[in-house]
Amino acid sequence: LDEGLRCVGCGSLIQTTDKNEAGYTPMSALIKGLENGEVIDQRCFRLRNYNEIQPVSLTDDDFRRMLDQISGTNSLVVYVMDVFDFSGSLIPGLHRFVGDNPVLLVGNKIDILPKSLKRSKIREWIRQQANMAGLRPVDIALTSGKNGDDVPALLDLIEKYREDRSVYVVGVTNVGKSTLINQIIKYVTGEKKDVITTSRFPGTTLDRIEIPFDEDTSIIDTPGIIHQDQISHYLTAKDLKYAAPQKELKPRTYQLDAGQTLFFGALARFDYIQGDHAGITNYFENNLMIHRTKLAKADEFYAKHAGELLAPPTTENLADLPELVRHEYKTTEKTDLVIDGLGWITVPANSVIAGWAPAGVSVLIRKAMI
Ligand code: GDP
Repeated sequence: LDEGLRCVGCGSLIQTTDKNEAGYTPMSALIKGLENGEVIDQRCFRLRNYNEIQPVSLTDDDFRRMLDQISGTNSLVVYVMDVFDFSGSLIPGLHRFVGDNPVLLVGNKIDILPKSLKRSKIREWIRQQANMAGLRPVDIALTSGKNGDDVPALLDLIEKYREDRSVYVVGVTNVGKSTLINQIIKYVTGEKKDVITTSRFPGTTLDRIEIPFDEDTSIIDTPGIIHQDQISHYLTAKDLKYAAPQKELKPRTYQLDAGQTLFFGALARFDYIQGDHAGITNYFENNLMIHRTKLAKADEFYAKHAGELLAPPTTENLADLPELVRHEYKTTEKTDLVIDGLGWITVPANSVIAGWAPAGVSVLIRKAMI
C-alpha cells in the first residue's frame, strides 16, 4: 500500500487490515476510491453518507491529551455512562480532567432496568456512585439511546446547562454513546446532511465530530476508551448474548435456605450464608442460566461443571475469564447485591451473603431499589 495514502475526510492513513483502527477501508472501496481519485475511510464514508458515527480504538495517552484539552475549554461536559454498569463506565480521574466545567451525567440504557424501578431511585443510586468517584454532576439525565425517546428531554437539559457554551460528550466504549449520538444527530439534523464536520484534537490522532448549535458553538463527540473491567471484554459475542442484557430484565425468584448457592452461568455466584428461608429475587439477563446448589459443595461443583453445565463462558473460552473473587457482606435492611454489568440479587435484612465475580468486576451493596 502507498505509504502516504490518506483519507480525504479525516486525514488518517488508509489501511485495509484492522476494522477497529482509524483509516480502515475495505479493499473493494479502496480500489473504487483509487479509480475515482478520492479515497475515504469507512468511518468517514458512513459519516458523510449516513450521518452515522463509528467508534475507533485509541491509546491511553491520546485519550488523556484529549481530556486535558477539554479541561482548558469553557464548556459543558456530558458524561455518558451505562446505568447497568457504573464502575465499568468510569473514566479514571475524570473529575480532575473536566477542570471547572460542569458535568451533566447521562445514565444510558435505562430500557434494561425493570419498569417498576422508579426513576428517582435510579438517579439517587447514580448520584451516590458518582459522588464516591469524586464527581458532582449538575444534573442526571436518564436515556435509552436504543429507542431515542429521551433525546428531546436530554437536549433540553443540555440547553439549560450549557449557557451558550460548547458541549463535549465523553464516555468509555460500550456505554452506548455512539448510539445516543446518532439519535441526537438524527433529531438535530432531520433530513439535512453535511451539517456534521470532523476535526482533530491537536497533538492526537483522535477525531472529534461536531454537530453545530449555532455559528460559535457545537456538540462535540469524543472517542471513547476501552474499560478493561467490563464483562464484555472477556466474553465472545455469542456468550455475551446470554450475559449482557439487551432487553428489560425480568425478575426471577428462588426460595433459598441458608447454606445454598446460586451460580449465574460460570460468570458469577451468590452464597446465602446466614439468614431466614426467603424468596431471593435475581435481576440478570433473562436467558442467563441460574443454577442452585449446596454452598458446602459449591467450589467442587464449579470446578467440575464450569464451561459446560455452568455457561457462559463455554469451555473453550473459560481460560479468558478472570478468576472469581469473593465479596462478603452483612445486611441490616433489604439489600441489593450488585454485580456491575451483570445484574443484582435482592436479599432480606439480617443475612450474611457473598457475591463472587470475575476479578476486576465490582461487587457492591445498596439499599434495595424495588
Ligand atoms: P459506544 O461504544 O459507547 O459508542 O456504544 P455503542 O453505541 O456502540 O453500543 C454498545 C452496545 O450497547 C451495543 O451492543 C448496543 O446495541 C448497546 N446499546 C446501546 N445503547 C443502548 C440502549 O440505550 N439500550 C440498550 N439496551 N442497549 C444499548
